[in-house]
Amino acid sequence: MAKRDYYEILEVPRTATEEEIKKAYRQKALKYHPDRNPGDKDAEEKFKEAAEAYEVLSDPEKRRRYDQFGHAGVGGAAGGGFGGGMSMEDIFANFGDIFESFGFGGFGGSSRSRARRVNRGTNLRVKVALTLEEIAKGAHKKLKLNKYVVCDACHGLGARLGSGHNTCPTCRGTGQVTQVTNTFLGRMQTTSTCPQCGGEGRIIADKCPKCYGDGIIKGEEIVEVDIPAGVAEGMTLSLSSKGNAGPRGGIPGDLLIVVEELPHQYFQREGNHLLYEHYLSIPEAILGSNIEIPTLDGKARIKIEPGTQPGKILRLKGKGLPDVNGYSRGDLLVTLNVWIPKNLSSSELDMISKLQYSENFKPAPGKKEKTFFHRMREFFGKE
Ligand SMILES: [Zn+2]
Ligand SMILES: [Zn+2]
Repeated sequence: MAKRDYYEILEVPRTATEEEIKKAYRQKALKYHPDRNPGDKDAEEKFKEAAEAYEVLSDPEKRRRYDQFGHAGVGGAAGGGFGGGMSMEDIFANFGDIFESFGFGGFGGSSRSRARRVNRGTNLRVKVALTLEEIAKGAHKKLKLNKYVVCDACHGLGARLGSGHNTCPTCRGTGQVTQVTNTFLGRMQTTSTCPQCGGEGRIIADKCPKCYGDGIIKGEEIVEVDIPAGVAEGMTLSLSSKGNAGPRGGIPGDLLIVVEELPHQYFQREGNHLLYEHYLSIPEAILGSNIEIPTLDGKARIKIEPGTQPGKILRLKGKGLPDVNGYSRGDLLVTLNVWIPKNLSSSELDMISKLQYSENFKPAPGKKEKTFFHRMREFFGKE
């Protein structure tokens, strides 16, 4: 089944604000919450679908990529490990605070809806600079990341080893506090995140001296990543769970890898085509020649016909870059130019002067040769 549009799932316009999206998600989550629809597989699917839509649309970066590339931008070939299969545990771990914030915890009373809040690490964004040669073949990169890692002194728990945790006295481990107030409408019950433990349900008895109770410290990690062939400047790959570690045993954020394309000595990139300009000498252009040109995988020889005009474009099929989403390849387009020398010896000047009034050297554009405009139209595939 084709994936449904995320805006359609939440029934919001594409211009919806963050607040509108959050509100729409709450409504869907409430309607399809498993506590309200026990054993209803269809409701569970809708609940998961809404969570997935919300995960993307509530994150400005993911939303931007979704708007630009659709589902492929957040889970397709260029997207890495994200999207699709969110488990119920993921949903409660990531968005638990949403349920809490509208008092969901007290409702139904299943252990799941009272799941303790899990801290999520932040996403980490790095740039990776690639040469055109690397883009042509795909690249294996080792990235040295400065990021938050799990504290080695307390194994991420935040507590001094051996000291452990105490159940939070305020919420008695539930992570939530329920307040009952008497109003003129009657007794009102509100549930909110416990202020003492921040919803974790437990507090550290004796904080780890290295991370001061956070469970994470600044550190380094080497991450190896395979970059697919054909990527382009500005594309973002995401590796789930390779971002910053989550505080106190939480789940890590994602690693976002932004592609940067290094300029090339010879080639300009135009989509998946490569452009190269080659200068012929005047005798080469007149007499014809056999020239050597660079390509991304070594040198190639091409034949120059006698009487070649400057501006002629030769197309070397398949010598460009591969497409990131498929099997097609771009071409290498070689524009030929003719080099006009400035400093000539007197004998060279003599020879050229003798040709000055020769009939054969008079320009006759448009007679036998394709015009410049014709070639440009050909280049852009209009003829
Ligand atoms: Zn508490
Ligand atoms: Zn620690």
